[in-house]
Formats: sequence, C-alpha cells, structure tokens
Amino acid sequence: MSKKIIIAIDGPAGSGKSTAAKNLAKKLGFTYLDTGAMYRAITFLALRSGVSDDKEKIIEIAKSSNISLKTENGITRVFSNDEELTDFIRTPEVNSKVSEVSAIPDVRSEMVKIQKKIGDEGNVVAEGRDVTTVVYPNADIKIFLTASLEERARRRFKEFQSSNQSITFEEVKANLEKRDRIDSGREVSPLRKADDAIEFDNTGLTPEEDLEHLYKIILEVLRNIDK
Ligand code: C5P
Repeated sequence: MSKKIIIAIDGPAGSGKSTAAKNLAKKLGFTYLDTGAMYRAITFLALRSGVSDDKEKIIEIAKSSNISLKTENGITRVFSNDEELTDFIRTPEVNSKVSEVSAIPDVRSEMVKIQKKIGDEGNVVAEGRDVTTVVYPNADIKIFLTASLEERARRRFKEFQSSNQSITFEEVKANLEKRDRIDSGREVSPLRKADDAIEFDNTGLTPEEDLEHLYKIILEVLRNIDK
C-alpha cells in the first residue's frame, strides 16, 4: 500500500481500545500510539512533584517533559527526558487525577503536537479520547469503541487484580464513571463519537472476537482506499 494510513480509535475507559489498537497495529505492521499514556505520564510527574492541583505548574511540566513512547512486543514504554515512567502511570492515584490534568487546554495542545508528528510518519493505529475528532480529523479510518459500564469495570478490575493493586470493584466502577463524566463533559476535546466514525459495541466479546470484527471492517475500508 502506497498511501500512509492513520487508523484512529476513540472510546471511554475500559472499552478495549488499547487491546484492540495494539492487536491491530501488530497485525497490520503499523505503529501503535497510546495517547492516554502521555496524559498519564504528565499526571504522574505532577503528582510526584506535589503540584497536581496547580494548573500553571502542570503546564510547565507538559512543556518541559519531552514525552516519548516506544512500543516493543506490544508493550508501550513511556519516557520523559530519557527517564522511564512506564511502571508508574497505571496506578489508582494516576487514574483518579488524569482526567483533571488532561482537561487543561495547554497540556492537551502540547501532547497533540507530539501526536501529530507521530501521525505524519504514517501507518499508525492511534487510540485515545480525541484522536478521531481533534488529533487526526482526517484519519483514513475512525472507530468509536464502546461497552457497557459494568463490563468495562469488570475488565479494569481484573487488570488491577492481576497487578495486585488493592481496590474494590465498586471503586473501579466509580472511578470509570467519574472519568467518563469528566472526559465527555470537558470544554476542550470532549470524548464524543465523530460523525464519520464507525461505532462498535464490544460488550460480551473476547479481545480476539473484537479484533476479528475490527480487522474485517478495516480491511474493507483499506481495500477501497487502495482502488
Ligand atoms: O486511555 P487511558 O485510560 O490510558 O487514558 C487516561 C486518561 O487520559 C483518560 O481518562 C482521559 O482523561 C485522558 N486522555 C485524554 N485524551 C486522550 C487520551 C487520554 O484526555 N487522547
């Protein structure tokens, strides 16, 4: 295929975006871009410096943190100025603060700059809350993934259990609900389905079934692009 393709996947927390985007990137030989990892990294840095309630300080961090991502064998490693942060960005503390941090417009514009640069290189599968609407409004394929709140909470709870983090199912569900509310209600780049995105509800599907459905949809679109 001669054209450089961008596949953009948006959706709420726990909708399976990361798994689907990672699997699709691997299957297609594309670069996987986890935009949430960038907002998580800024949130972690703000928490570590004790400034997570100070917008100006958070913006300074976003401007000076030089966030970069490296994906190897399906695992995305996150760096800030060469310091690896991968192991610190998926904690309950980061989860409960990341939506507030990512709602700051200047933090978003810094991250979007980096994301657009990665997109310019082409053949990318990007996932996030605004990749179909703001970051790549001209993406070749846009997908909006959803699943019921119960199902999304079950998936996240399982992840926490397997990494031995102590949190109850009800807490996980409440955190997801809160994040959905902030992500969808914020003024800048709210989570919403782009008009030309294909919506897919994967409640009750295994990641393999989800991948199979999405891959079919994508192949169909790619075939038409190639014609
Ligand atoms: O996808 P993930 O759960 O890692 O994203 C963490 C948070 O980062 C989201 O709840 C959202 O607040 C923020 N985010 C965003 N825009 C993106 C990706 C993530 O605001 N493109």
